[in-house]
Amino acid sequence: MRIKMAMGIWLLGITLAWLAVAPLDPGVLPLVDPQGAAAGGWLLRRHVLYLSGLWSIGLMSLTMLLALRLPWLERPLGGMDQVYRLHKWAGVGAALTALLHWGAKESSGWIKALWGTVGRPGRDAVLPGLTGFRDAAKDLGEWAFYLLLAMVAIALLTRLLSYKPWRFLHRAMPLLFLALAFHTVALMPMDFWALPLGALVGALLALGSAAALWSLAGWVGRARRHAGRIHAVHVLGDGPQAPVEVICALPASWPGHRPGQFAFVRFHRGEGAHPFTIASAPGSLGTDERGEPLLRLVIKPLGDYTRSLGQRLRAGQQVDIEGPYGRFDGQGGHGRRQVWVAGGVGVTPFLSLLESRQPGAQPPRMRQQPAHMHYCTRDAAADPLLPRLHQLCEHARPPVTLTVHSDAQGQRLTPQALEAGMAGPLDIWFCGPQGLGDALHAHSGGLRSWRLHRESFAMR
Ligand SMILES: Cc1cc2nc3c(=O)[nH]c(=O)nc-3n(C[C@H](O)[C@H](O)[C@H](O)COP(=O)(O)OP(=O)(O)OC[C@H]3O[C@@H](n4cnc5c(N)ncnc54)[C@H](O)[C@@H]3O)c2cc1C
Repeated sequence: MRIKMAMGIWLLGITLAWLAVAPLDPGVLPLVDPQGAAAGGWLLRRHVLYLSGLWSIGLMSLTMLLALRLPWLERPLGGMDQVYRLHKWAGVGAALTALLHWGAKESSGWIKALWGTVGRPGRDAVLPGLTGFRDAAKDLGEWAFYLLLAMVAIALLTRLLSYKPWRFLHRAMPLLFLALAFHTVALMPMDFWALPLGALVGALLALGSAAALWSLAGWVGRARRHAGRIHAVHVLGDGPQAPVEVICALPASWPGHRPGQFAFVRFHRGEGAHPFTIASAPGSLGTDERGEPLLRLVIKPLGDYTRSLGQRLRAGQQVDIEGPYGRFDGQGGHGRRQVWVAGGVGVTPFLSLLESRQPGAQPPRMRQQPAHMHYCTRDAAADPLLPRLHQLCEHARPPVTLTVHSDAQGQRLTPQALEAGMAGPLDIWFCGPQGLGDALHAHSGGLRSWRLHRESFAMR
């Protein structure tokens, strides 16, 4: 909802600024006059061309800004995972509006073929000194547009390319933005540089270009990066699916975290920083022999890299931790019952929330409420995290009631069962597999009494 609203406000702002400089009478009707001249059609084409171009570059600028992982955006958007979702959908929106822009450009051939060029407006003047760059800016814009479409398609069709090569390609996006910024500056009509549109577009291009250069320099998240050390590594359970528990020691610069937050963790140079939830409450593991605070990560071997971690990580190894990020705090509105739903490794933020409810834990900043937790696991009998979860729920204050749903025993959790089991307005905190999250999301859409908070474990 917040994402749709943020995109809507962004596009509305651009549209209003454009309306302020657009002619009062758009002059598009009739599209074709009785003599067969398409003066209205040509003007409509021009308006669509300009407005779609403004929407597209505006959304691209937003995408660039969101890629900076700015912590102050977490509060209005509801967490860094949501910042990334907005980044993704703003990118998709930029590609769709670029498609409209391209369609408007191409439509000149069709209008000409059907009605001729009578009534076609002349070329708009552009900024002084840039007239000579018109053709280069058009060609660059066209190539950048094709690449943008290809990048967005690859981002959405995850099966086309695995995460690692996609991430490598994705790093070229700032270059595409810079090419499209040049296209905009060189081709935007002179009149559009008047207030307020000129100031808005100027600010968007300047901020977007600065963000693009920042990303290209590899400085994203630099101020929140801390050089830590691996204190201990334990493989929890047997078999290839066994999660790895990594205890990290952080330097004095680490600002501390809140239960439910996550960090970007880089264990090896040359490997991207992976997001992992901090699966321990602040202060719950104490400090190491050097007095450095300890925190826990629980990593499930879900992909190529995480599968190798059990063998590759050693105590004493360096680790870069960037963060903390996120607002998955398990708290809800007054008068609402708290329901926590975890699936598989999605249990990690709840481990941290539960630890913060143990006797002797650091007092939380917010008032905590009783909660009912549903934990979905493949096989409860073989789940290495379950005994700890039982123990944490048993001692949690305020209390947390635990219901376990084991696939192997045919105990699947459904939104309908959740609804039947708990009446009244619910605050549902969900972290787990995409399918169950989508089912809860679809079901909550029809129920005014449900408020779903979802930590997204996929950033692509
Ligand atoms: C907010 C958040 C918290 C998470 N917490 C945990 C946790 O506590 N424990 C846990 O086991 N897993 C957690 N994950 C998932 C974990 O990040 C991925 O499973 C892991 O990065 C997979 O890496 P891979 O190279 O082995 O897998 P791949 O098969 O290469 O990738 C699988 C998927 O993991 C994600 N991913 C991979 N690399 C990155 C990266 N560098 N940056 C962002 N996303 C990436 C992508 O969505 C990708 O499609 C969390 C994810 C997010 C977004």
